[in-house]
Amino acid sequence: MTIQRNLELIHKHIFQCATKCGRDPSSIQLVAVSKRFPIEAILEARSTGHVVFGENYLQEAAEKKAILGDSVRFHFIGHLQSNKAKTAAEIFDMVETIDRFKIAAALNRNLMAIDRKLDILIQVNIGRDPHKSGILPESAANLLEQIKDLKYLTPKGLMTITPITQTVEDSRTYFQQLRILGEKLQSEGLLPENKLELSMGMSSDYHVAIEEGATLIRIGTSIFGQRPPR
Ligand SMILES: *Cc1c(COP(=O)(O)O)cnc(C)c1O
Repeated sequence: MTIQRNLELIHKHIFQCATKCGRDPSSIQLVAVSKRFPIEAILEARSTGHVVFGENYLQEAAEKKAILGDSVRFHFIGHLQSNKAKTAAEIFDMVETIDRFKIAAALNRNLMAIDRKLDILIQVNIGRDPHKSGILPESAANLLEQIKDLKYLTPKGLMTITPITQTVEDSRTYFQQLRILGEKLQSEGLLPENKLELSMGMSSDYHVAIEEGATLIRIGTSIFGQRPPR
């Protein structure tokens, strides 16, 4: 019941934020981050019609996907190792965390083998945080150039995890920087002209991310509650 109620509240909030800043609410997709939560939690969200979930751990995602099948769509938002590319190629609808050519190439190889195309985002370390993964902003164009030759990958946009900031307003600068970079890459023909996906914003700051152009927001705790330990 609580998950259902939380989802309702978030959708209401997304609607309010979007209309307030002149955006179409349907252009913002909620990714419910279900990492470390059991299947039951996903099923409760699914019963309200929610289908897109974010997972960080490959093994956990694979186990859940084996049970849930095509009733859900999984976005991978964790760190991907190339030796796990085969499973990733099979189970995800989007991999949001591509930040190096090696992993892109490994995914492409495994996708080719099963003749399946996959949407991806480039993860950008917009805050230049040495503890975070993601490619540095100035290297994103080069990575996208290389990925052009990988026919089974479809780059849709950018994703970022912003540094932990003092205030929510501090995140705004990072969100703006990601959008500006995305638009630049679009103008260079490296990202789709018609729609740029920007995955940014979490439980604490998604309202600001929406104001700054987020199309995917990744929310865990505000939907499912406090995460159980690993
Ligand atoms: C866990 C996680 C989230 C969700 O964070 P919450 O604070 O629980 O909303 C979003 N994005 C990524 C990449 C995560 O790892």
